[in-house]
Amino acid sequence: MQRFQYYIDGQFLDGEARFPSVDPATGKEWADLPEAREGDVDRAVNAAEQALYNGAWSKMTATQRGKLIYRLADLVAANAQKLAELETRDTGKIIRETSAQIAYVADYYRYYAGIADKIEGSYLPIDKPDMDVWLRREPIGVVAMVVPWNSQLFLSAVKIGPALAAGCTMVVKASEDGPAPLLEFARLIHEAGFPAGVVNIITGFGASCGAALSRHPKVAHVAFTGGPETARHIVRNSAENLASTSLELGGKSPFIVFADADLESAANAQVAGIFAATGQSCVAGSRLIVERSIKDEFLTLLKGKAEAIRIGTPLDMATEVGPLATRRQQEHIAALLDKSLQSGARLVTGGHRPGGEGYYFPPTILDCDGVNSPSLVNEFFGPVLSVVSFETESEALALANDTQYGLASGVFTQNLTRAHRLMKGIRAGIVWVNTYRAVSPIAPFGGFGLSGHGREGGMAAALDYTRTKTIWLRTSDDPIPDPFVMR
Ligand code: NAD
Repeated sequence: MQRFQYYIDGQFLDGEARFPSVDPATGKEWADLPEAREGDVDRAVNAAEQALYNGAWSKMTATQRGKLIYRLADLVAANAQKLAELETRDTGKIIRETSAQIAYVADYYRYYAGIADKIEGSYLPIDKPDMDVWLRREPIGVVAMVVPWNSQLFLSAVKIGPALAAGCTMVVKASEDGPAPLLEFARLIHEAGFPAGVVNIITGFGASCGAALSRHPKVAHVAFTGGPETARHIVRNSAENLASTSLELGGKSPFIVFADADLESAANAQVAGIFAATGQSCVAGSRLIVERSIKDEFLTLLKGKAEAIRIGTPLDMATEVGPLATRRQQEHIAALLDKSLQSGARLVTGGHRPGGEGYYFPPTILDCDGVNSPSLVNEFFGPVLSVVSFETESEALALANDTQYGLASGVFTQNLTRAHRLMKGIRAGIVWVNTYRAVSPIAPFGGFGLSGHGREGGMAAALDYTRTKTIWLRTSDDPIPDPFVMR
């Protein structure tokens, strides 16, 4: 068993208790992890508060902060392969994806390193002749970050990067499923030379560690990625101290294909959209909305591609779909699929859980035309695509918007004016036209409705980790005249 520690106030510690981590490819325990409970959460938040107001971090210039983030980015790049192998081992996400994604995580840190000394205040053209008034942008405070199992290094980078650029200090809670890569990443924070307490990384269970962190009175902001049900707990908990929140939640994202689209390209994008990361992706294009005249042709193309996917052990570079992260996830997908089949949805391919060890589930396509299937409404967070068809553009748009989520969407068409109408009409935080699943540190990312609120990526994300302070300076040497009149 490999043993991990967590990181509080610049120290690597064993935690109040320990728990095992399971390798999803085998279903066997492989790592021994520290479990933070209320006491450790409290130590971590207090360390972050000390670092924010009293430590070396609080005295650094923004440029110095940026240099530290650059150093961290270089360390992530240099250790990308090791981190990728750990993430693959601990979560089952295939090595092809983790190696590419973690190399790109370094670019997220680089982007926010550059932003650190570009967060500017402002001078206000105030309506009084004897006053100078400025807005200072200051760090929002101690930030609690709570992330889910999938892509923990990526989902934490889009929080840690902008929060560091803004000068915040933080406690990051890794998911209890697959936290090893984030605990290893703590070593890079240490090596980069961040002062003690600036970044604290712990792991533990949601109901104990996560709840204690999100309701801690010294936390000013909670940045959360996960499911809508947990988000409700987070919001209730953060109400204790009226902390602000940013919530990156799930989706039931529409993927619209018109008859005039490049079908080969659309099919490849749809495969990436639903089967990459074994479907455990918040932006999964899980509802295919296809023009009726090409439905059969497109489904035949997709079925061929789905059945050709190489399912295998995640550490093998040739594998294209690996196991799900947990048995719980495998059971949830099987149960929702059963309900969908009972409602009348028809299996195009996949659907049957293989025997043997590990939490595997095959790429699955469900034809839901004319059926009120729960698979069109509920998130599988797995490799299951639900298909419906349309005749007219307005029908396609109505189907796309028939969801309580609002995270991502895709449109495949060669018709430029139609693409413009749809990009305005679709209710989602991201519209990809003739592409899918593209991300960048420069482009904001996030949704609304059941998909949450707030944006990650881009300059705006860094500003979200600041608060403004208004400074009034009277420039007149004359005595203040009437003390009972506000002026
Ligand atoms: P989850 O909500 O169960 O858990 C996420 C995190 O919340 C974990 O660290 C967990 O320990 C913690 N948690 C659980 N209960 C808590 C509580 N009461 N208080 C505080 N923290 C608590 O999510 P999951 O099932 O691990 O992840 C899958 C979900 O995440 C999916 O819905 C997916 O769509 C979503 N997701 C969203 C994005 C995005 O950027 N929008 C990205 C990836 C995943």
